[in-house]
Amino acid sequence: MTNVVIIGAGVSGLSIAYRLQERLPQAAIAVLERDSRPGGTAWTLHEGGFQVEIGPNGFLDTKPTTLELCRDLGLGERLIRATAAAAQKRYLFLGDRLRLLPGGLASLIATDLLSWRGKLGLLTERFRKRRAPKPGDTERDESIAAFARRRAGAEAANLLADALVTGIYAGDPALLSLPACFPRVAALERQHGSVLKGMAAAARERRAAAQANGQPYERPGAMWSVREGLRGLSEALAGALKRPPLYGVAVRGLRTAAGSSSPSWTVLGDGQQSWTADAVVLACPAHQQAALLADVDAELAERIGQIPYNRIAVVALGYRRQDVSTPLDGFGFIAPQGLRRDVLGVQWCSSIYPGRAPPGAVLLRAMCGGWHRAEMVGWGDDRLVQALRGELRRAMYITAAPIFVKIVRWDRAIPQYHVGHLDRVAWIEKRLQRHPRLFLGGNAYHGVALNDCTEQGCVVAARIARTLVERNANLR
Ligand SMILES: Cc1cc2nc3c(=O)[nH]c(=O)nc-3n(C[C@H](O)[C@H](O)[C@H](O)COP(=O)(O)OP(=O)(O)OC[C@H]3O[C@@H](n4cnc5c(N)ncnc54)[C@H](O)[C@@H]3O)c2cc1C
Repeated sequence: MTNVVIIGAGVSGLSIAYRLQERLPQAAIAVLERDSRPGGTAWTLHEGGFQVEIGPNGFLDTKPTTLELCRDLGLGERLIRATAAAAQKRYLFLGDRLRLLPGGLASLIATDLLSWRGKLGLLTERFRKRRAPKPGDTERDESIAAFARRRAGAEAANLLADALVTGIYAGDPALLSLPACFPRVAALERQHGSVLKGMAAAARERRAAAQANGQPYERPGAMWSVREGLRGLSEALAGALKRPPLYGVAVRGLRTAAGSSSPSWTVLGDGQQSWTADAVVLACPAHQQAALLADVDAELAERIGQIPYNRIAVVALGYRRQDVSTPLDGFGFIAPQGLRRDVLGVQWCSSIYPGRAPPGAVLLRAMCGGWHRAEMVGWGDDRLVQALRGELRRAMYITAAPIFVKIVRWDRAIPQYHVGHLDRVAWIEKRLQRHPRLFLGGNAYHGVALNDCTEQGCVVAARIARTLVERNANLR
C-alpha cells in the first residue's frame, strides 16, 4: 500500500487528495488539518439568516477547473451564478462618490473617469509596439504598473491597474509581477503584440467554437458559487475522500529516513502522533511550509518563507433594506488603494447571489487592510466598524447602524507575487529535486484564485501519481 500524507485541508490540499485518489485508487491518502473543519479560507458562516463568506466570494468561469470539480462532486444542481446586474455593473469609489466602471468600448468612450488623452492611451494599445524580447528571453519580469503604463499610458494605468489589483490581490501594482499575477495577459502581448488584439482574437475563437458545437456564445467571466456558500464545495470535497481528513492535527515537522535506498517521510503531529509516508505534500500557507521544512532544508525553507502575504480584515455588515437608499444594482465597489482609504472595496453580497440575507435585509461585505493599510487588521472591532460606517456614509449615504456585524481577520491573507516571483518558484522547484517525493501545493506558487488552486490540484496529483508509479515499478 502506498501512503501519501497531505498537510492542509484547504481547497488546494483537498483538490490534490481528490484528484490523486482518482488516479491511484489503491493509495492510502491521509489529509492532516490543523483546524476543526475543511476549507481553509473557503468557508461560509450561517448566522442570523445571513450567509457570510469568510474568504473567497466565488470563482470565475474563465478557467474550467472549479466548475468541473463541482460537477464531478455532484454539486451541479447547487451551483449558482452571480446575477446579471452583478456581472455587468461595478463601481469605483472616487472623490467620495461611486462612479460606474466602464464595462465595454461604448461606456469607455462615454466615461468621465478618464480624460480624452487617457482614453486615447487605452484605445491605441493595439498599435503600441510589444517589448522587444532579448534573445532566448520569453518571460521577462515586469511590474503590473510598468506594464500598464507601457501598454495603455499613465492615466489608464493609475486608475484601472490599481482597481484591478485592489480587487484581486489587494496589493501594490508597482511591486506585483505581471507575468506571475496575470500570465494570460503577458501571453496575449507575447503572442499577438497587443492585449486588445489578443482578447479580440480569443473572443473570435470562442465564438467560432460555440458555433461549431451549435451552442450559444457566452462571454466568460461570470462568477459562480454554491447555494450554501463555498463551504458547500469544501465539505463536498472532504466528504468525497475515502478517508476523511484528520482534523485538529497541527503538523510540526518532517523527517526523512536518509540513507535508505527508498527513503520514506515521517510527518510529526503536534502530540506524539506521527505518520510514515511514501510521499508528502505541503498544501498549507508558505510560512507554514517554511516552518515544516526548516530541519529538512534550511535554504529551501528560507526561500519559501520569503513569499510575502498581505493582511485583510473581512467585515460583513447586515442592514435593513429600508436603511440603504443606493439601489445595490451591481457587484459592489472598489476603492483603489492608491487613495489609501479605510476600505479596499465592498461587495453587495445579497445582490450578487440570492439567499445571502434574510427577508427585508441586505448583506454588504467590506475588505480592509491590504498591502498599504495592513495596520487596520490590528484595529479593534469598534474602531474598524466606525471607520467603515464613515466610508459607507460617504459612498452610499448609509447613516443607520448595521443590524448584523461579523469580522474575520486574516494575518496572512493573499500571497503577493512580487517581481522576481517566477524566478523564486523556478529555484524552489529545482531545489525540490533534492527531496524525492516531497511536493508543494497551495496558493503561494502558481496562482491565488480558487481556479488556480483546483487546477494545481490536478497538476500536482498527476505529478505525484507519475512519481509513485515509477518508483513502485523500480522497487519491483
Ligand atoms: C479575504 C479573501 C478573499 C478572497 N477572495 C477570492 C475570490 O473571491 N475568488 C477566488 O478565486 N479566490 C479568492 N481568494 C483566494 C482563495 O480563497 C485562496 O487562494 C484559496 O482558498 C487558498 O486555498 P489553499 O488551500 O491554498 O490555502 P488555505 O485556504 O489557506 O488552506 C490551508 C490549510 O492549511 C491548514 N494548515 C496550516 N498550517 C497547518 C499545519 N501546520 N498542519 C496542518 N494544517 C495546517 C490551514 O488550517 C488551512 O486549512 C480570497 C482569499 C481571501 C483571504
